[in-house]
Amino acid sequence: MQFERLDISLSHYRHLDREHRAHIALLGALMLAIIVLNLLLQPHFPYERVYAVSLGFETLNCITMLFLFWVVQCAHLPTPTYRLLSSGLMLWIMGATADIMDELVEQPLWLAIYAEDLLRSCGILLTSIGGRSTMHHLIHVSARLREQALFDDLTRLPNRRYFHQQLFLEQGVCQALILLDLDHFKRINDNYGHDIGDRVLQQFGELLQQHCPPDALAARVGGEEFALLLPVANEAELQQLANTLLAATRNIAPDPAHTMTVSLGVGIREPKEPAVSLFKRVDKALYGAKEAGRNCAVWATPTTQGA
Ligand code: GH3
Ligand code: MG
Ligand code: MG
Repeated sequence: MQFERLDISLSHYRHLDREHRAHIALLGALMLAIIVLNLLLQPHFPYERVYAVSLGFETLNCITMLFLFWVVQCAHLPTPTYRLLSSGLMLWIMGATADIMDELVEQPLWLAIYAEDLLRSCGILLTSIGGRSTMHHLIHVSARLREQALFDDLTRLPNRRYFHQQLFLEQGVCQALILLDLDHFKRINDNYGHDIGDRVLQQFGELLQQHCPPDALAARVGGEEFALLLPVANEAELQQLANTLLAATRNIAPDPAHTMTVSLGVGIREPKEPAVSLFKRVDKALYGAKEAGRNCAVWATPTTQGA
């Protein structure tokens, strides 16, 4: 897999589209026009009146902005953001070019002060709005990537990565865990096709979300495997929830002759028990539910007996 990166080498020019090339050409032409017109039309300062330090700093500023302008050409930005940044920097650089010439030739007041400042101010304004638009774009992209990395496409539930983060990193939240595995799910695919299998998974995801208590987390942790992380540690409540899920799953039927069932492992976290230990106990309980004939919930063995 090839990852996209910001290529700012000059050879990247080959890959730029017409609009980007036009912006570069326009800026080049405008800078050239400012330089040539100043040199041709304005009286030159004598050599001893040229302040090398000032000229050096003005030139450095201009080069820095040119670099930024080039980076903007190479970056993959949404078109409105690109146009704001590119035209803002273009105006700013034109102001900076006139500023450099101001060190070499005697400019009239309207050019030395008003035109230069106007160009610079408009350039800064547009570039700032473009900067803000870039931030919005990055926030949007990062939210989209987070969504893709942590949520399952099919059921829209949090995925295994998100579940593990919550279980193992945010250990305080989880007081109880239920692992669920649809029974004989492979037969659904085999008998009715993959699309119907997907639909059953979506329906089961909706069912889990519907019955998921507030502050609990429902996740899809594998193909037909799901999990509920719960902040409650009340045995009666958990048993009630497990019974509700068992009953609700039987309402999912890809065909009237075939109702779905699910097997559950249920466990409450013991005082100071690491999340990994709870997970192993509940996973074992789920295996026990399969062994017991499926379509049932089995409680995890307490650590004192299970070890
Ligand atoms: P058990 O009762 O022992 O859990 O049997 P099972 O058939 O449910 O379990 P098994 O692990 O044998 O098969 C799981 C099947 O789930 C196999 C795989 O093709 C299917 N599966 C996994 N992910 C998806 C998916 O996203 N969509 C569909 N349609 N099927 C999937
Ligand atoms: Mg399975
Ligand atoms: Mg299964």
